[in-house]
Amino acid sequence: IIWLGQPEHSVTTTCAYCGVGCGFKAEMKGNQVVRMVPWKDGKANEGHSCVKGRFAWGYATHKDRMTKPMIRNKITDPWQEVSWQEAISHAASEFKRIQAKYGKDSIGGITSSRCTNEEVYLVQKLVRAGFGNNNVDTCARVCHSPTGYGLGQTLGTSAGTQTFKSVEQADVILVMGANPTDGHPVFASRMKRRLRAGARLIVIDPRRIDLVQSPHIKADYHLALKPGTNVAMISSLAHVIVTEGLLDEAFVQARCDDKSFTDWKSFISRPENSPEAMAEVTGVSAELVRGAARLFAQGAKGQTLSGPNGRVNSAIYYGLGVTEHAQGSTTVMGIANLAMVTGNIGREGVGVNPLRGQNNVQGSCDMGSFPHELPGYRHISDTTTRTQFEAAWGVTLDAEPGLRIPNMFDAAIDGSFKGLFCQGEDIAQSDPDTQHVAAALQAMECIVVQDIFLNETAKYAHVFLPGASFLEKDGTFTNAERRISRVRQVMPPMAGYGDWEATQMLANALGYPMDYKHPSEIMDEIAALTPSFSGVSFDRIDHHGSLQWPCNDHTERAGTSTMHVDHFVRGKGRFIITQYVASTEKVTRKFPLILTTGRILSQYNVGAQTRRTENNLWHSEDTLEIHPHDAEERGIKSGDWVGIQSRAGETVLRAAITERVQPGVVYTTFHFPESGANVITTDNSDWATNCPEYKVTAVQVMPVTQH
Ligand code: SF4
Repeated sequence: IIWLGQPEHSVTTTCAYCGVGCGFKAEMKGNQVVRMVPWKDGKANEGHSCVKGRFAWGYATHKDRMTKPMIRNKITDPWQEVSWQEAISHAASEFKRIQAKYGKDSIGGITSSRCTNEEVYLVQKLVRAGFGNNNVDTCARVCHSPTGYGLGQTLGTSAGTQTFKSVEQADVILVMGANPTDGHPVFASRMKRRLRAGARLIVIDPRRIDLVQSPHIKADYHLALKPGTNVAMISSLAHVIVTEGLLDEAFVQARCDDKSFTDWKSFISRPENSPEAMAEVTGVSAELVRGAARLFAQGAKGQTLSGPNGRVNSAIYYGLGVTEHAQGSTTVMGIANLAMVTGNIGREGVGVNPLRGQNNVQGSCDMGSFPHELPGYRHISDTTTRTQFEAAWGVTLDAEPGLRIPNMFDAAIDGSFKGLFCQGEDIAQSDPDTQHVAAALQAMECIVVQDIFLNETAKYAHVFLPGASFLEKDGTFTNAERRISRVRQVMPPMAGYGDWEATQMLANALGYPMDYKHPSEIMDEIAALTPSFSGVSFDRIDHHGSLQWPCNDHTERAGTSTMHVDHFVRGKGRFIITQYVASTEKVTRKFPLILTTGRILSQYNVGAQTRRTENNLWHSEDTLEIHPHDAEERGIKSGDWVGIQSRAGETVLRAAITERVQPGVVYTTFHFPESGANVITTDNSDWATNCPEYKVTAVQVMPVTQH
């Protein structure tokens, strides 16, 4: 740790890493941050932080920061530094040329969950109003898009139902496909405090994550299912609850749609959904599943229960181990079914809580960066909504949904998609089936990348615009509990302009006028056009510290802490039939193991930020976890280099032999580009949203002599 001197003043802002959204005081000496101190009044963290937020901010002034715009005609040409004006006018004239030659739908934009709400809103506005199409998508496509679909269908909106604090009133906590200790550390500490105070725990995860057994915590049930069988597991839990009469009939009758419940009940009661019938699919004994289902529905014997009329408060927390599957949306709907049938929704201590990976993935979805939705999750085909935006923006909007990211890649390879504006997202590294992505990017005629570093996607770009780090921005992030918090500028943008200004300049150069003087004006426009944000403004956030959407009044209320209290956003809760379908990614003699992926505490996503900080002292490479039996069979020792081959590609990692993974399953993180995790993942994706199936890849692992 380097001593940077005594601070002179501090600025309150929000962490730019995970979806917990911790508040921080950036302590400053002049224009230099000397340390980040967790903000004790921050509602998401109450004065706590983790090693990322507290120590890993040095990337913001790292020597690799890009500060000059650059252009080149071909991706094999050297970059040429130019003025902002020249870069923007080059990008605009290329986009105009492409649209004139190939049609208005031949270009699109990708927004980033690392950017502020205001920046995301502006990019989707640029695409819809400036490009004249709906070809806008967000990096949430590859993480929580099934949450959007699944919760929208069942509950009526894509949002976590609770505050983080709500866990303090849970009696039973079900964690599925999430590893909060590594992925959401500050929330994990809060959850562990509750577990140490007596709450009971069910973990559904192929891997023995830290929560299964850590100091003073032991899960009552660890359902170590085979990767790709989430729907089978959720259905068998619900089967036990329904067939053993453990459901909350009063809640279902009062709050849920009759017909959908009757249909679902008859489906879920079928013998093929029983834990006994599903045991071979999931690899988990029926006895464990029955025990977990009873615990979830009733609490433990002798446990003091906190719910109404002596009922149990059971809360569900889930992560990318649920969504990044071919049946990701189905599992999310199964989770919502489980919460509704047990009456665990609409009060403190219960609920359906997606743990969002990135700082602003909730916000990037809220702000209308899906090709079929305007801000506030309103479908582009809805004439009333579209008319409202058309009047405000002074354009006619296309009523047809545009292209999702994977469709953009396919269209690029087919020759109909030729230009892309990609702000703050490294699709070449983070999207699956790297070879396919590279081929698509190479087929485009103009790619404009904006980022703080020269990322992997920039290798295929024709225009590079230097981005601003969170320390250089004014705006808002929305965390996993729908909490909108301020991001405050502590130093001027190193490249001279903020990301929102770059988008505005590009819009103006394309002939669509934008004239915002400050990001607060963008938020005012969002509030005017989006009912769930109508009570949001920078002034009100400053007054309350943060606001939670839906926030549609200007009273002293700071928004809505618990969703679906008296009725669901869609009116009556809707049960959806969740038929298990096996993944097409199957183990064979050639590929006998299943690879799944996750995160470690000290690193973050593709590592662009954390790898440029001292966090590398904790972990400086991705490794492959393999069970001792599988390692012995292959003559692999811990620390050996091993080759990992899938149907999509191959890579090499160092082996770590551990019983954290079960036999037949291997596991790696994806924080280092050289590990090539996405070279081996397939192009399978969720049936409803195209979210990639990162969590199920059949592989072979063999020792390699050299690397
Ligand atoms: Fe930042 Fe998440 Fe750590 Fe909080 S828990 S400090 S938001 S990385």
